[in-house]
Amino acid sequence: MAYVITEPCIGTKDTACVDVCPVDCIHPKKDEPDFESVEQLYIDPDECIDCGACVPACPVSAIFALEDLPEKWASYTEKNAQWYKK
Ligand code: SF4
Repeated sequence: MAYVITEPCIGTKDTACVDVCPVDCIHPKKDEPDFESVEQLYIDPDECIDCGACVPACPVSAIFALEDLPEKWASYTEKNAQWYKK
């Protein structure tokens, strides 16, 4: 399982989640080359340890545990994972 970043992050990219993630699995970070070009941030499903720290840190409530993921944003599970496969 992993946490998933969804639509409210698009255009927001606050990065508060990046600062609280204990395993550094949310990218791109502000100092990484892709930061300006991506529309949102993504969680690496292979690295996420399901701690939940990022959920309350997000100012736009864009992050969900898989079991809490709203159906309308189901596609974001794959969207997050896909970013790490390129
Ligand atoms: Fe990082 Fe924890 Fe959020 Fe996973 S649940 S992305 S490990 S802060």
